[in-house]
Amino acid sequence: MKVILIKYGELITKKGNRKFFIKKLEENLRHKLKKFDIKIQIEISRMTIEFLDSDLKEIEKVIQNTFGIYKYHIAECVDTNRESIEQKVLEISQNKDFHTFKIEVKRSDKTFPISSLEYAKILGGIILKNKKNISVDVHQPEITITVEIKHGVSYVYTDSILGSGGYPVGTQEKGLLMLSGGIDSPVAGYLAMKRGIRVDAVYFEAIPHTSLEARNKVIELTKKLVQYTNCMHLYIVPFTQIQEEIYKNCNPDYCITIMRRMMYRIMEELVKKFQAKVIINGESIGQVASQTLVSMNVINAVTHIPVIRPVACLDKLEIMDIARKIDTYDISILPYEDCCTVFVPKHPVIHPRLDMCVKMEEKIPYQEMIQKCVEEVQVLKITDQEESDFSSLL
Ligand code: ATP
Ligand code: MG
Repeated sequence: MKVILIKYGELITKKGNRKFFIKKLEENLRHKLKKFDIKIQIEISRMTIEFLDSDLKEIEKVIQNTFGIYKYHIAECVDTNRESIEQKVLEISQNKDFHTFKIEVKRSDKTFPISSLEYAKILGGIILKNKKNISVDVHQPEITITVEIKHGVSYVYTDSILGSGGYPVGTQEKGLLMLSGGIDSPVAGYLAMKRGIRVDAVYFEAIPHTSLEARNKVIELTKKLVQYTNCMHLYIVPFTQIQEEIYKNCNPDYCITIMRRMMYRIMEELVKKFQAKVIINGESIGQVASQTLVSMNVINAVTHIPVIRPVACLDKLEIMDIARKIDTYDISILPYEDCCTVFVPKHPVIHPRLDMCVKMEEKIPYQEMIQKCVEEVQVLKITDQEESDFSSLL
């Protein structure tokens, strides 16, 4: 029989909270794996999953997408006795092609009569005797055969596969992600989830200036992100009126700055309405005029809610690499314009002045308009389980 052995990684730095983190990871895995015939066992330093061989590929995919897992092994189970262990180690060594190897023994069952180091030597000797043209290399072996000796059942494995790391989603409270159709914001959402934040998304829509295809893009991006969590809400904010008022009343160079201040104001209201704790977005320092440090100051001044910017210090190329890894890149580069790109002025201000913003904003009755946006926000629930049908909304 085989099992998947899961190692927690960063979770183990949590002392008092460790149980809570492990419980969350278990809950998340159970939810994702509910259609499979599996058995999960929890220990303080790892988790084991028994599974049907035919499901391995699909289960691995889930494990790869679940935060809180540092690495995992596909291990063979044997009874804890010398004969069974040695037979399995020999069998594995004979089925593998290698020239150099190392044996690692971890004995947690102290009733097993031989010490780890000594038993590693014995097992190494057995392999050397039975396989030709191989040698031991403890520093850079081609394969490492690990034997974990436990009470009753022991594990033997060779591969160590990296998981996604991070903390299980749900170990932090909720954050609202400003999700545009661009490359940066889905990556920001992914990275925020990696720290355990439960993420819901907010999309500012300016129909008829933006198309339904643009909305669809955001829905598709949310479906990609939901693979890392159980369920996401996508809040669609009707932003047309505010945007038109801004372009009617404000100096064109300041339109983007003021538009973003309005977005932040609405975000603050939504954070309160949906009991979230932070705003998350895809701003990256210096990328565009509204993302200089001066701009960020002036824009951020409208809210006291913490704003998390996971890609703030990444290069565009680094962001694109992550976008490809999480499979959002191809959706993000589809050409439909969103509300930021439709109204881009020729010379957006790079060093906006707060007093100028306040003065221009006085011409817009934005308080009422923001309230209206918040009341009229549309909610889509997107889960990882079934194909959601939103045709009625489109
Ligand atoms: P790009 O990858 O082209 O930079 P972007 O999504 O980062 O796309 P920006 O204009 O740089 O677009 O906007 C910065 C951030 O503001 C976005 O990452 C996103 O978090 C937020 N944002 C912009 N437009 C919208 C929108 N229409 N709805 C929700 N959030 C938005
Ligand atoms: Mg950007």
